[in-house]
Amino acid sequence: MAFKIEPKVYNLEGFPGLSARQLAEHYTLYVGYVNKYNEIQELLETVDYSKANQTYSDLRSLKVGENFALNGIKLHEAYFENLGLNQPFAGRIQTTIEATFGDYDTFKAKFSGAGIAARGWVVLSLDLNSGNVAINSLDAHDVGYFVNTFPLLVMDVYEHAYMIDYGIKRADYIQAFFQNIAWDTVNMRLEKALAMLSR
Ligand code: FE
Repeated sequence: MAFKIEPKVYNLEGFPGLSARQLAEHYTLYVGYVNKYNEIQELLETVDYSKANQTYSDLRSLKVGENFALNGIKLHEAYFENLGLNQPFAGRIQTTIEATFGDYDTFKAKFSGAGIAARGWVVLSLDLNSGNVAINSLDAHDVGYFVNTFPLLVMDVYEHAYMIDYGIKRADYIQAFFQNIAWDTVNMRLEKALAMLSR
């Protein structure tokens, strides 16, 4: 039986600088990735593996689409879940970011800059090989993800994430994103990642 994913449900209203309409449209895209992922899983049950080919084959198309859809789901869930209200920059993530980047403003400048330079996503992640925290830029859901890293803070910089609210002014959207970070969630992710590191 094919493995299926259920879309998660979020309350995406009340974020200053990120309108309910913007986030509702964005959520609809996320549900689309879930539906396509589930469709791909069904098709993988019956696709002809004997015709696999790297130039073109039905299996190749499904596997490429699977990468895009599954990473799209995971990145969007991480993004929606790290939106929050009135959560102070504190705890272990604060000490980790300050130890890595020097201070919050330097981190913010580097993460924001990566958000201008990337075409898809910026992820602050914990490298499970080295234990270091780093900023990972992705040009698409399935392009550029650092292997064996745990996502701590995820920012969508595709135009669809901000076009309704900001037109092409991505830097303004990034400013608004920084006003709505769920640092409690980021701290929980960091604890989870550090526990994996110590295993
Ligand atoms: Fe998106």
